[in-house]
Amino acid sequence: MSGLYPARYWHQLPSGKLQCDLCPRGCKLAEGVKGFCQARQAKDGAMWLTTFGLSTPPRLDPIEKKPLHHFLPGSQVLSFGHPGCNLGCKFCQNWSLSKAEEFSGLVESHSPQDIVRLAQSKGAASVAMTYNDPVPNLEFGAEVAAACQQAGLKVVLVTAGYINPEARAEYFAQVDAANIDLKAFHDAFYKKLCKGRLQPVLDTLCFVRNFTTLWLELTHLLITGWNDDPKETKAMCDWIVENLGPDTPLHLSAFHPAYKMAEAPPTPFSTLRRAFDIAQEAGLRFVYTGNVHDPEGDRTRCPHCHRTVIQRDWYRIVDYRLKGSACGYCGEKIPGCFSAA
Ligand code: SF4
Repeated sequence: MSGLYPARYWHQLPSGKLQCDLCPRGCKLAEGVKGFCQARQAKDGAMWLTTFGLSTPPRLDPIEKKPLHHFLPGSQVLSFGHPGCNLGCKFCQNWSLSKAEEFSGLVESHSPQDIVRLAQSKGAASVAMTYNDPVPNLEFGAEVAAACQQAGLKVVLVTAGYINPEARAEYFAQVDAANIDLKAFHDAFYKKLCKGRLQPVLDTLCFVRNFTTLWLELTHLLITGWNDDPKETKAMCDWIVENLGPDTPLHLSAFHPAYKMAEAPPTPFSTLRRAFDIAQEAGLRFVYTGNVHDPEGDRTRCPHCHRTVIQRDWYRIVDYRLKGSACGYCGEKIPGCFSAA
């Protein structure tokens, strides 16, 4: 099994401890100690990534499952997760991997070239680092991304965007598309439920919009009593329109009880529908629902003629009316990346 690899983004403190500068948590590690994410460790006076080359068994997913609805629709993406996570979400759906302290049995060992060969042999158009957050495994992810780019495969990140500026500039420069989780629009949610903060995530979103060309979509999971206040949804959507633009797709997703919130109620469909309406009224032109069967929330409409140009049934495309990147009815350009070229 693979493992130790020299980590980037750290410095030594006067106390002798090593501070990790990869994410805003800034773990200060004494010799032998692992960071909050369990993926980085101080050892022999240096910082190491302990999980290089370790991933969940790579598998093919429809790109719609990431979710990405404006990026190579209908294509397959080779998807895998990394051990560890730099957030501590009490509602994590992948907690057995993200919060594991011992990874053997959960992961396999693959080189970046193995991942590329696997993606090519399965006919994938892209490779995604997904399921739990790819940030703590940056060094491996960056090598996978470089190998993919050499082979003509697109690179997708599914992330909470909890990463420091220098590291994110390096990582996101290698990425073709990202779905970034905007978990809530108030800091107390991030503090109480995720052991993180909101502002670094907003900073990442603005960075992606202003300083990269990658295709960006957002996911927002609605949890009853925590982030489903219509005023919060409105404020979040207004912020997205103003800072990221009205063409940024927003996926409003239903919570299913999990991990430390196994007793919390699932999101009612009416909550999703209300948030969907608020988002559209705020000016967002591509709003979707997720984790529910909802033909209305699964369709892409042309913002000019309002006809449906892509209809999905869960993750399957059942009707496709785009010509290139234009509406097949009126010719309006639909924002996104609709060709692998
Ligand atoms: S990446 Fe891991 S070790 Fe580094 S600051 Fe974040 S949680 Fe701590």
